[in-house]
Amino acid sequence: MPSAQPAFGGMFRQLIELGVIEINTKPLDARIERRLKQFWENTSCPRCGHQSIMTWEKHDRVRCRNCEFKPAYTHGTPFHEKHLSCGEVLLAFTLYADTLLSINQIAPLLGRAYKTIHTAIREAEAAVQRGFPLTWKLFNQTVDGPTQVDESGKVCSGYKGQEPPRNSRSRGGSSRTGRSRWRGRHGDQLTLVAACRDSLRVIRGQRGIDYEGDLEPVIQEAEDLSQRLGEVWTDGLQAYREMDRDHRTVVHKERYVSPDGVHINQAECLFSLVQPWLRKFRGLSKQGLEQAAHTFGIIRSLNLTGASVEITIDCLVMGAFRSST
Ligand SMILES: [Zn+2]
Repeated sequence: MPSAQPAFGGMFRQLIELGVIEINTKPLDARIERRLKQFWENTSCPRCGHQSIMTWEKHDRVRCRNCEFKPAYTHGTPFHEKHLSCGEVLLAFTLYADTLLSINQIAPLLGRAYKTIHTAIREAEAAVQRGFPLTWKLFNQTVDGPTQVDESGKVCSGYKGQEPPRNSRSRGGSSRTGRSRWRGRHGDQLTLVAACRDSLRVIRGQRGIDYEGDLEPVIQEAEDLSQRLGEVWTDGLQAYREMDRDHRTVVHKERYVSPDGVHINQAECLFSLVQPWLRKFRGLSKQGLEQAAHTFGIIRSLNLTGASVEITIDCLVMGAFRSST
């Protein structure tokens, strides 16, 4: 059935099956190992709390001089015990987060079982959500300007066998809006809310279709990740007007930029990027769609700032090292 085929990657998959692509993660393995050992040298022992961890270039284990704890250098990180090398974990996560390839396409590329790759990606994703705020604060000190906030005009669904809605941007009780609403099971629907400030992108999925714009969690997160927010630019929906913030609005149905230059083009652009990316989750049973939407904001922020591989590694491990101290 043609519709069962993903929109991208069919030709690519044939080349994978021909053995055209050989993956060599050794340089990445080495960089991750170096970076993790730097973390160990600057952190306290997860067992005794003393800051006396020693590392060696050729050893897989680090050692606490105080209590003799000898964990693997991957201990506590998403790189630990995956039947994958560190580089393969990061490569799998990168292909998942930064391309339109689905896990069904990534697994054969790495020559691994779907479940192995799925588990590694999910754990890496959870780690990135913990580590990103800590990493972002350390490497990105200047995020300023207005914050554009918007709610997606579409809801998304990753549930098998169900078509996503064409349009659900509906306010109030017009009977016309009912037709465009997707009739999935309650709780299956997802509305996206995004905040854009400078190079920072925050996306949250909110369950439900009758979701009336609780923008506060996304605005709060944007504020936590940057300096105190100044102006918040939104469209003119009621929920926004009630916000207790210094903000201006633009009603973009009528015009895209208000006479004084207020707009939410960045947020609208972000939705146009995240929606095709989220579409690759169609056909998978979907628990993590909200998490995936949030991940996209993180990855977009990292890409917009030109973050190095080391920064990405830091995002994956920072949460683990922080919680162990
Ligand atoms: Zn110790």
